[in-house]
Amino acid sequence: MELLPETYQRLRGQVAVVTGASRGIGRAIALAFAAEGAKVAVNYASSSAAADEAVAEIIAAGGEAVALAADVSKTDQVDALISKVMEKWGRIDILVNNAGITRDTLLLRMKLEDWQAVIDLNLTGVFLCTKAVSKIMLKQRSGRIINIASVAGQMGNPGQANYSAAKAGVIGFTKTVAKELASRAITVNAVAPGFITTDMTKDVKSDDILKYIPLGRYGEVDEVAGMVKFLAADAAAAYVTGQVFNVDGGMVMA
Ligand code: NAP
Repeated sequence: MELLPETYQRLRGQVAVVTGASRGIGRAIALAFAAEGAKVAVNYASSSAAADEAVAEIIAAGGEAVALAADVSKTDQVDALISKVMEKWGRIDILVNNAGITRDTLLLRMKLEDWQAVIDLNLTGVFLCTKAVSKIMLKQRSGRIINIASVAGQMGNPGQANYSAAKAGVIGFTKTVAKELASRAITVNAVAPGFITTDMTKDVKSDDILKYIPLGRYGEVDEVAGMVKFLAADAAAAYVTGQVFNVDGGMVMA
């Protein structure tokens, strides 16, 4: 990555927390924010080498970042994560709730553990991080929160009852919290990717799926990061809240 020249950096002096930023979409978001001059907390669960590598890339380009381990489905670990960011940089301007997992199987074969693990991270994790960070943003009277949902939460997907339920929950949560925080100039939006090339989708790609994507190809992580960057950094996005933005090659057209 390359840092933009200082005068073009729209996130200069701002602090961003990106959950699940060691790989995939989260990593691309962290790098996109850093290029705009943000200080970035690169959260991860277990891939410490990958998180360190993302941080090293940002620092080599002249940016600021730190890798912070935390399972964001756990209250104590979320609180520790947010405390560490506050100790280091003293403010949080942007939160991206990106960490997510799948445990795909058809409903009748789905074990309670498969259901619970996905709900715990993909929905409860969004609640825990948003709650912890919103306290800080309310005091600052500004902030941007971006939740990574999915087309599965809008249209359903066989084998993903747990995941679709969590992502639909994220969309409802986004709209409610957007209303609750709006009076303090905090925006809350969701981005709903379709099929993006990452570790998460490497085993589910098929020609069958491409039939449902009007643009006829899978998406790239930088395309999702571009939408997230718009919501975090663009001046026009200050007047956008409670919305869901699809980055899906046209899969969902509401
Ligand atoms: P990915 O490549 O599998 O990366 C997942 C990231 O989440 C990793 O950085 C991982 O960290 C982190 N993570 C996993 N469990 C965690 C936990 N308990 N606490 C904190 N971090 C944790 O996934 P991705 O495809 O980039 O997906 C990112 C987000 O986009 C997810 O919310 C996903 O549901 C959503 N999404 C993806 C697609 C797609 O097509 N790829 C489509 C729609 C929505 P470790 O490396 O440490 O495990």
